[in-house]
Amino acid sequence: MKMIPVSEPLVTAREVEFVLDCLRTGWISSAGKYLEQFETGWAEYCNMPYGIAVSNGTTALQIAVRLLDLQPGDEVIMPTFTIISCAQAVTYCNGIPVLVDSNPYNWQMDVTQIESKITPRTRAIMPVHTYGHPTDMDPVLDIAKKYGLMVIEDAAEAHGAEYKGRKCGGFGDISIFSFYANKLITTGEGGMVLTKREDLAERTRSLRNLCFQKKQRFLHDELGYNYRLTNIQAALGVAQLERIDQIVERKRAIAAAYAEQLKDIEEIELPIEEPWAKNVYWVYGIILKENTGINAAQFAQKLAEKSIETRPFFLGMHEQPVFHKVELFINEKYPVAERLARQGLYIPAGLTIRESEIEQVCEAIRDILITH
Ligand SMILES: *Cc1c(COP(=O)(O)O)cnc(C)c1O
Repeated sequence: MKMIPVSEPLVTAREVEFVLDCLRTGWISSAGKYLEQFETGWAEYCNMPYGIAVSNGTTALQIAVRLLDLQPGDEVIMPTFTIISCAQAVTYCNGIPVLVDSNPYNWQMDVTQIESKITPRTRAIMPVHTYGHPTDMDPVLDIAKKYGLMVIEDAAEAHGAEYKGRKCGGFGDISIFSFYANKLITTGEGGMVLTKREDLAERTRSLRNLCFQKKQRFLHDELGYNYRLTNIQAALGVAQLERIDQIVERKRAIAAAYAEQLKDIEEIELPIEEPWAKNVYWVYGIILKENTGINAAQFAQKLAEKSIETRPFFLGMHEQPVFHKVELFINEKYPVAERLARQGLYIPAGLTIRESEIEQVCEAIRDILITH
């Protein structure tokens, strides 16, 4: 039996048309109208004045942290429950990621713990809108203002999500997106840095392109990167951006179908939507309660036997051997993130999933929980 995939990109005739246009006109590299359209279109959608497309979300974070000009030992506060791209962007700049546990209810950074983590070395806060649900941004922004900190908003999982009616990615001094194949909007591989500040936008453009100078191209006064996106990739993004409202609606409909069919199963916790939030359910995560006697890895195995693909939740940064080797996060404990990592997994919820497949997944979950 064919596996039901966790997610599959949906490519339409519009993407094909735009990509072919690049090929036919020869605009296949890192300049062209689709790049400009994608940058301005996405920045406008997020209500940010400047958008600079880059090669992926990880490189977007690297540039975002570079913009902070960290001194060795400077600190950036972030959730432990996130992708390694966040923490490594800081360590690459000789900074120190300072971790915060998750909120057990909405799975985002527990914003009540941020202030206790501030030291004289703190330079920035990096909220991550995880799995399509926004972080509670008002406390983050208030604390940042009170202590004079920058906010880098990682919105790579929250295209179209809203906090108090405003789009995620529109709150930070700098925000970043990923357009990897499994994200709500994809360019295959791709990312973007958004910012409110013209100077940071200018510097991002420079860092993205090896810090070539305008007047004298091969004279450099800073070390940059080649993190350019191509016009072909941007063409995919422009086509997808035209459909973003539909994409968000479809994701929410998939989540609503799961919520309806799974709501009476006591053994699992489902994703929630805070009253101040619009969740885009980038993935549909479920948590197995401990009293079921089964953990996420065992459950994933049983679902795989029923041809249903799943993915594990993040393993917190404080549990990563790569950081322990450099004496980071030794003996730190974040119980909520640890529980999410062990008991959470996400189930198929890609744009191509059919209603019958959603039913099949729910039936399988029920079966396993009854018979295990
Ligand atoms: C996907 C993702 C990234 C990295 O994006 P890539 O394009 O895969 O490098 C960064 N942060 C978060 C929260 C992500 O989910």
